[in-house]
Amino acid sequence: MDKKLISEFESLLGKDRVLSETEELLCYSYDATSKDFMPEVVVFPLNAEEISKIVKLCLKYNNTPIVGRGSGSGFSGGSLPLKGGVVVSFTKMNRILELDEENMFVTVEPGIINADLKSYLSEKGYFYPPDPASYEFSTIGGNVAECSGGPSAVKYGVTKDYVAALEVITGEGEIMHTGSKTVKNVSGYNLTQLFAGSEGTLGLFSKITLKILSKPKEKSLILASYDDINKGFKAAISLLKLRNRPSMLEFMDKFSIESVKSIFKSDIIKITGKFLFIIEADGYKEEVEKSIGEYKKILEEFSPVFLFASEKSEDKKVIMDARKAISPSLRKYGDLKINNDIAVPINKIPEMLAFLEETSKKYGIPVINFGHFGDGNIHVNIMLDKSNAEMSEKGGKAKYDVLKKAVELGGSLSGEHGIGLEKKEFMKLKYDAYYMNLLKNIKKVFDPQNIINPGKIF
Ligand SMILES: Cc1cc2nc3c(=O)[nH]c(=O)nc-3n(C[C@H](O)[C@H](O)[C@H](O)COP(=O)(O)OP(=O)(O)OC[C@H]3O[C@@H](n4cnc5c(N)ncnc54)[C@H](O)[C@@H]3O)c2cc1C
Repeated sequence: MDKKLISEFESLLGKDRVLSETEELLCYSYDATSKDFMPEVVVFPLNAEEISKIVKLCLKYNNTPIVGRGSGSGFSGGSLPLKGGVVVSFTKMNRILELDEENMFVTVEPGIINADLKSYLSEKGYFYPPDPASYEFSTIGGNVAECSGGPSAVKYGVTKDYVAALEVITGEGEIMHTGSKTVKNVSGYNLTQLFAGSEGTLGLFSKITLKILSKPKEKSLILASYDDINKGFKAAISLLKLRNRPSMLEFMDKFSIESVKSIFKSDIIKITGKFLFIIEADGYKEEVEKSIGEYKKILEEFSPVFLFASEKSEDKKVIMDARKAISPSLRKYGDLKINNDIAVPINKIPEMLAFLEETSKKYGIPVINFGHFGDGNIHVNIMLDKSNAEMSEKGGKAKYDVLKKAVELGGSLSGEHGIGLEKKEFMKLKYDAYYMNLLKNIKKVFDPQNIINPGKIF
């Protein structure tokens, strides 16, 4: 990198908002994948005007690549500076700019942590539903770029369903505004929704306006497990057809259940059965009581082997902590994990799970599954031994088979984490050359010199 570019950044932002020492850069070289790439400089802008100037300087200095970074918690390599260049960290842009209570929107800077926004809103009686498991540390900017989702998606949808307007700096350094604080908006192409899930490749967000809801007063949970998986599915599908559908409908396979039980000591987790559902109802107290009664009746009709209901917040914490512990607990099955977040139509989940079991047998490696039944999003964990090269090779083949099957069933390569670096070679399983070309041409419109997060998606 031309040293003059670093000097220009220092003049623009001041030396304390520009990092260029190796030991400082290391902290911005990785994300939640096991890959790392060193940036050449990290900058900390405070507003759109500064970001615009950063982009224009990058254009001036040999089209230096720029990668936006929230908390670096991505699972697809989105925030990794694949081609070096500049990392734009949004950590200093973390303010809540406006709470519009009359119209029910909140406008924030992109670096705010999802949990901080949730707790600010909660104190005022409001609710921002998208809840990736990383909500305690991931940023809203990262959530919008990856269109993140979590357990609440079954009732409330994912991040894109809440993004109403954006301030974006394009690859030409232009500051543009999309959307409006209205539910209805039909004025040309819907660029707001194009940016939501664009994986940081079309522009850098500097302001985000989100729709908010009023907070549900009560929440209550049920655990139900089944030995006969088909009966379990029928029960879960019946719950989804209800007008008062659950606000969460998670599932865990028998290996996930055993894995959590081995590290988590609680009476509630003394679950039996091969397939577990975690089900939540939310709303007013009377509504929740009625829903829980109705859910229990349905679940019982399909002969569960374990059924537990609770409205106590302590129980909910144990259950949700156990849910969050699945991923780390899987270490006992292998020290290297290929983590896939495929999504399939809900009625194809049984077929997909049967295929995953076959895949595990075919390659002789553990394949452990859990996820969000209510939206068809399955976290497929192919567990490997780092020191075993033959096993890694089999893991790679298993990953290919899994993604291919998800596509064949009419599903998606990624339900939550995005394509980034991790799955770009698999895009051809889903899309033909014409479609891929359209995506590339869309990128060119916003970023003609290909400086914003180059090398991702395609
Ligand atoms: C333990 C764990 C659990 C997780 N659980 C979930 C889950 O349940 N659901 C889910 O969807 N994901 C999950 N993730 C993945 C990850 O947390 C999400 O993708 C999250 O949205 C990333 O946010 P971040 O702030 O860390 O973004 P980063 O990882 O820093 O960046 C992600 C992408 O966003 C871009 N970006 C960041 N800020 C901006 C901006 N202001 N403008 C433009 N682009 C920007 C980056 O360039 C990159 O492409 C999990 C990750 C971990 C480690």
